[in-house]
Amino acid sequence: MVASLYAPKLENKILLVYLEQEQGLLEGVSLELLAKGRELVDQMNKFERSKNWRLSGLLLGDQVERLADQAIACGADQVQLADHPLLRDFTIEAFSRMAFQVILETRPSVFLLGATPNGRDLAGRLAVRLRTGLNADCTGLEMEAAMGVLVCEVSGFGGGVLAMIQMQHHRPQMATVRPGVFSALEANPQRTGKVISVDVDLTPEMVHTRLVERSIGQAVDLRKVPVLVAGGRGMHGDFVTLQRLAGLLGGEVGATRPPVDEGHIERERQIGQTGVVCSPKIAICCGISGAFHFVVGIEKAGTVIAINFDPQASIFESADYCVLGDVHQIIPALIDELKKQGWSASSPEEGQEKVDREAAYA
Ligand SMILES: Cc1cc2nc3c(=O)[nH]c(=O)nc-3n(C[C@H](O)[C@H](O)[C@H](O)COP(=O)(O)OP(=O)(O)OC[C@H]3O[C@@H](n4cnc5c(N)ncnc54)[C@H](O)[C@@H]3O)c2cc1C
Repeated sequence: MVASLYAPKLENKILLVYLEQEQGLLEGVSLELLAKGRELVDQMNKFERSKNWRLSGLLLGDQVERLADQAIACGADQVQLADHPLLRDFTIEAFSRMAFQVILETRPSVFLLGATPNGRDLAGRLAVRLRTGLNADCTGLEMEAAMGVLVCEVSGFGGGVLAMIQMQHHRPQMATVRPGVFSALEANPQRTGKVISVDVDLTPEMVHTRLVERSIGQAVDLRKVPVLVAGGRGMHGDFVTLQRLAGLLGGEVGATRPPVDEGHIERERQIGQTGVVCSPKIAICCGISGAFHFVVGIEKAGTVIAINFDPQASIFESADYCVLGDVHQIIPALIDELKKQGWSASSPEEGQEKVDREAAYA
């Protein structure tokens, strides 16, 4: 077994969270990890007499000091801040070099990152350099207090197996967690903490990647929509009809992975394990089989309505209302009926009101 660069007995009682930022804004998943990290550190301090576990943030960027204050307000005890013009945009060379430096200097017990494209990129490279393990795409985190060992919940074999994985001999204990699994704490501006400046020894020659163009997709945040109309392979690429339905209900359209891979809809609208985890009041699943990888993305929905022509489809096991039939007939009929009843295209805010009103009638 290859040993990690530092052994468990050399670790410091630090739970380090990577504070991912994009253009001066902290990613939501970093705040969610701070909230979970706070809970785990408090639990360890309750258990251990020395009470010297700390929740630390790792912030890399250019002129981002105010984000360190935000992280402290959201739970961090301290923030390791590397502020440098060469850290303005994410490049794997510069960011992995700095993260590696901070980790070797501080030797955290645990290092958590969001399972975002950049977080995953960084996590993989660092795990190899540190010769430690990486639990990717975790759906839960706990600390085994007596051992000070992180327990990561990871799903495998298409969701058929839920594994609890511990890292006994390697440090740091690394994990990535998908956005939306935990909830961020409300910022408390009264909280105080330390901002520790990190020496940055970067030169332009060390960075071989250059950002040529930034292209921003439609800014849709499916995590917060009141109504989600999700389409699967059974829609055969017809997302226009789903868009009409979502428009009437004041919702947004999401999708399973196949229509995304086939280019019928933007990747940011993919729901599930490698997509977005949503918590709408109503989720309407159209032509979706109900694979575990998708279902984890709608587990937090209030009411799930599934439409599928296969009575054996496993989506029906996760649904509150099961509609057996052809989506290409049912959705247009539903749209006509809603219009007859006076529903018209509405915004997500109006959609929220409609959902609340209907719930009050029910
Ligand atoms: C590591 C990994 C990560 C993954 N991450 C994700 C993820 O984040 N999100 C995700 O969605 N998937 C993900 N997947 C893929 C996932 O396992 C499934 O393959 C996928 O969710 C299936 O999508 P689907 O239900 O649209 O398609 P299918 O499984 O092909 O199901 C189509 C359904 O449509 C029904 N249907 C067909 N025509 C009609 C009709 N006219 N009317 C009514 N019903 C109809 C069929 O009966 C069927 O049930 C991942 C897979 C892996 C291995």
